[in-house]
Amino acid sequence: MTREIEEIDTLVIGAGQAGVAMSEHLTQLGIPHLVLEKNRIAEAWRSGRWDSLVANGPAWHDRFPGMTFPGVDPDDFVPKEQIADYFVAYADKFNAPIRTGVEVKRLERNHRQPGFRVETSAGVIHARHVVAATGPFQRPVIPPIAPADRSLTQIHSAHYRNPQQLPDGGVLVVGAGSSGVQIADELQRAGKTVYLSVGAHDRPPRAYRQRDFCWWLGVLGLWDAASQPGKEHVTIAVSGARGGHTVDFRALAHQGVNLVGLTQSFREGEVTFANDLAENIARGDANYLALLDAADAYIARNGLDLPEEPEARHILPDPACLTNPIRRLNFAEAGITSIVWATGYAVDYSWLQVNAVDEAGRPQHQRGVSSEPGIYFLGLPWLSRRGSTFIWGVWHDAKYIADHIATQHKYLDYQDATQRRHTSW
Ligand SMILES: Cc1cc2nc3c(=O)[nH]c(=O)nc-3n(C[C@H](O)[C@H](O)[C@H](O)COP(=O)(O)OP(=O)(O)OC[C@H]3O[C@@H](n4cnc5c(N)ncnc54)[C@H](O)[C@@H]3O)c2cc1C
Repeated sequence: MTREIEEIDTLVIGAGQAGVAMSEHLTQLGIPHLVLEKNRIAEAWRSGRWDSLVANGPAWHDRFPGMTFPGVDPDDFVPKEQIADYFVAYADKFNAPIRTGVEVKRLERNHRQPGFRVETSAGVIHARHVVAATGPFQRPVIPPIAPADRSLTQIHSAHYRNPQQLPDGGVLVVGAGSSGVQIADELQRAGKTVYLSVGAHDRPPRAYRQRDFCWWLGVLGLWDAASQPGKEHVTIAVSGARGGHTVDFRALAHQGVNLVGLTQSFREGEVTFANDLAENIARGDANYLALLDAADAYIARNGLDLPEEPEARHILPDPACLTNPIRRLNFAEAGITSIVWATGYAVDYSWLQVNAVDEAGRPQHQRGVSSEPGIYFLGLPWLSRRGSTFIWGVWHDAKYIADHIATQHKYLDYQDATQRRHTSW
């Protein structure tokens, strides 16, 4: 039996925050569209994050312009389930045409006619435009140096849920971006011996002179910054946990977390760390202090009445793990039984069989408009700016893409003089 083939002007793939934002803008422009989601709306916030996760930015900031978080203080950090609920409610608000439980398997260009043929788990759809909103963090990445040691429990941060999930014994957390530091902190507070492998990072103050760092990045134009070659992958270490606090590696060490440098290699039950811990911490400090300087200059230039905060410049004494760094650790001797890899994610566009990804699988686009006319990407890191993967940022990128699709409609609707004469008869 042949299944009926559906046709739609614009197909959006993925109903995370990116897909919901896209649907809102397409709805406003009157562009017929459909959103396909293989799981549930905002699934990543429900099953792809650890139990205690709250937003890294305050509720007034980490949201779409059209709706606040109901019943939440604007300065609070919203728990992950409530964030997912927010996107479900937001989609309901404008009756977003989202079909859940449908996975896109393959997409290819039509021959001798415009648009694309999209194979899904529920049949074939033909679409003129397709927006890939499948997320910036699709495939958890564990680097190839990971040891093939069956006596160790190894999980990626995407699969970490809570301290009880790990076996008794110490933990090595590799990666000290927002995920790694928050997980290391939680594990140490749960009574575990924790080693945290720290690489290059930025660490803005949680708040300075009565303004959250999200506010500072906004007024200083840093959310809008374009990617700088070599700096794209420098992680930001921030935390909304326990009411929000500045990530301070020295404070973590004084609390009991053992800091180590970049994880280099594993061999015969031992791990080796690079001799770069002091340098990585110093660079993070420099980034922290530079933001304080920029904030002070902004306040002075604009004559703002925000109280001075000299104590923010106080740096704690160096802990022993910083002055005398551990370069080598034997798992058995240190009692380490598990590794949490907080080492980031990759994208996976293997289903996209068109000229929009390069040989290495990297999306080719400018501000989300891909090298294959009619295909768009949304939600990717640095798509248009630093803010592109964040809740508020993706909303603006979605607007740009919806406008681009509307402009294409104008071109396609154009009629020359002869055609106009025919239609006016
Ligand atoms: C630990 C962590 C904490 C974060 N905290 C914050 C924060 O506090 N504030 C903030 O602004 N940002 C935060 N982010 C960044 C970002 O907001 C989230 O990663 C967010 O989930 C990205 O939204 P998205 O819609 O682009 O992608 P996703 O949420 O990943 O949504 C993509 C959707 O596409 C679906 N999909 C994928 N492939 C297919 C297919 N082939 N067919 C159909 N459907 C498909 C998936 O099921 C998924 O639901 C955080 C990220 C992480 C990892």
